[in-house]
Amino acid sequence: MKLPIYLDNHATTKVDPRVLTRMLPFFQEEFGNAASRSHVFGWKAEAAVEAGRKQVAELIGATEREIIFTSGATESNNIALLGAVEAYASQGDHVITQQTEHKAVLDVLGAVAKRGVKVTYLPVSRDGLVDPGAVAAALTKKTILVSIMAANNEVGVLQPVEEIGRICLEAGVLFHTDAAQAAGKIPFDVETVHASLVSVSAHKLYGPKGIGALYVRRRDPRVTLAPVIFGGGHERGLRSGTLNVPGIVGFGEAARLALAEMGSEAGRLRDLRDRLLARIRDGLDGVELNGHAEKRLPGNLNVSIAGVDADALMMAMKDIALSSGSACTSATLAPSHVLKAMGLTPEQARGSLRFGLGRFNTAEEIAYVAEQLIEKTKKIRSLSRDHGSRRNSLSA
Ligand SMILES: *Cc1c(COP(=O)(O)O)cnc(C)c1O
Repeated sequence: MKLPIYLDNHATTKVDPRVLTRMLPFFQEEFGNAASRSHVFGWKAEAAVEAGRKQVAELIGATEREIIFTSGATESNNIALLGAVEAYASQGDHVITQQTEHKAVLDVLGAVAKRGVKVTYLPVSRDGLVDPGAVAAALTKKTILVSIMAANNEVGVLQPVEEIGRICLEAGVLFHTDAAQAAGKIPFDVETVHASLVSVSAHKLYGPKGIGALYVRRRDPRVTLAPVIFGGGHERGLRSGTLNVPGIVGFGEAARLALAEMGSEAGRLRDLRDRLLARIRDGLDGVELNGHAEKRLPGNLNVSIAGVDADALMMAMKDIALSSGSACTSATLAPSHVLKAMGLTPEQARGSLRFGLGRFNTAEEIAYVAEQLIEKTKKIRSLSRDHGSRRNSLSA
């Protein structure tokens, strides 16, 4: 077993070696611009892009013409939300979302709210779920768009997107879902979900960083977006800019592998994740699971450990890469908005650890992580007990 151990697969994933192998020729021999129509370099690049587009479309049950390549899920969310709000302005000015969305949705909607769009932020239950009934109840004649993520990046909770999609379809309202964590990990199909717009990202599914896609529905009913990026008119005029050919090739291969291996990989990760939780609960008291026990990503575990600061715990386990309930939005040390929306106390949020298990984690690593966590937690707890009793004896 090699240290350090990477257990932060919700933040990003390692490029699968099979993906990298596919990408490499497109940096050197096949370096053409996919928009060059007059020579073989361009033709080969374009063929590679279209093959990648087909693979990404297949992953989410879309057609090739519905896939717009972007730089990642952040950009896809921006193009979807800004583009829809502008294109449908004559039909209404109300958007519905929920409190545990990624910042790449919340902050875009915050920006449109400043321009006068009304935004409803639905609450979540203690286990992190949005009530589809609450979505239906929040719809008004002015609602143009609902944006609810498929899987949460901190607690792994799977939102009831099929039900929400059906409600939106019946109401004639657009439904956008950020599927950056769901795509490639669990079955996701744009038809089952009745999605109008879907954001995905390659680096969350063992592809390269800096490449993602936006699904834009073309029929039943067709979705129109106002462009927010202008230039050469690439990607149906919705995302101008020279295409990232190696990135698209890698994204395509990553999507193909994720789809082919999803069944066995999800089962393997669920087993490892369940074993990790069982071992931690066996070795420690005061361990609370955050997020719904079943409706969650196979590779996600998020727990609060009573009486322990997760950042102190991570410092004590420097050879294990994890993230905590306070560090999710990197620069800020405030408790995560997700855990807060779920009703955790600031203490519970401070004691929260996110384990993101992925394709390259082994049973041996997970066993090591569980033992380390138990040992270090006990140590931190005993130190703070000693500290507490010393304080008590001094003040006595
Ligand atoms: C990672 C992530 C994003 C951002 O994706 P990038 O491709 O890094 O821009 C957006 N939403 C969710 C849910 C994510 O997990």
